[in-house]
Amino acid sequence: MNDAVTRIGEVRARIARAESEAGRPAGAVTLVAVSKTFDAEAVRPVLAAGQRAFGENRVQEAQAKWPPLRDAFPGIELRLIGPLQSNKAKEAVALFDVIETVDREKIAAGLAREIARQGRTPRLYVQVNTGLEPQKAGIEPRQAAAFVARCREIHGLAIEGLMCIPPAGENPGPHFALLEKLARQADVERLSMGMSGDYETAVAFGATSVRVGSAIFGVRPPLRPAG
Ligand SMILES: *Cc1c(COP(=O)(O)O)cnc(C)c1O
Repeated sequence: MNDAVTRIGEVRARIARAESEAGRPAGAVTLVAVSKTFDAEAVRPVLAAGQRAFGENRVQEAQAKWPPLRDAFPGIELRLIGPLQSNKAKEAVALFDVIETVDREKIAAGLAREIARQGRTPRLYVQVNTGLEPQKAGIEPRQAAAFVARCREIHGLAIEGLMCIPPAGENPGPHFALLEKLARQADVERLSMGMSGDYETAVAFGATSVRVGSAIFGVRPPLRPAG
């Protein structure tokens, strides 16, 4: 069997065990396979094995990779998990089923405009910078609930969840707990949190989706410069 197919089976089993240990229903957590930097040929066996939710962090890379895969495999759910530039809102709305990185007014306005124009409504999450890291995208925790309210009231956007990426090398639990608390304050249902190193912890803290890349596809090639 293909390595990625073997590994995704192991990840699914560990999620199921974490759900059960947390007293959560089986299937409560969606596994999003993060395929960034891996090409269509690497993704194909995982699709063939039944995985349907995928995460990509760059609009252009996803545009090049996914349309042919979409034609070949019905029911794909594509999620944007990387920063969105406001000049890419059009492409993002056209391509993605879920956009997890809404984090400022300009993006919210751009998405609202494109959603109205295209008649396509990707599901939306607000990214929260729980660690207040200057280099990281996301709204500050203390502004999160008010920002979700503005997305709804001013821009008419249906925000369904919050997303976070805890600081590398820190215990992720407090960040997941904070995101869960902010979701209750903001009145959103979904929590996108947990990656290869901490997805079981995230399940215990109430994640409704986890974003797992290297534990499925292996070590990523070094990052190319952003473009
Ligand atoms: C790359 C990435 C992931 C997956 O990271 P792994 O550690 O490889 O599982 C998850 N979330 C975001 C936002 C990412 O950019």
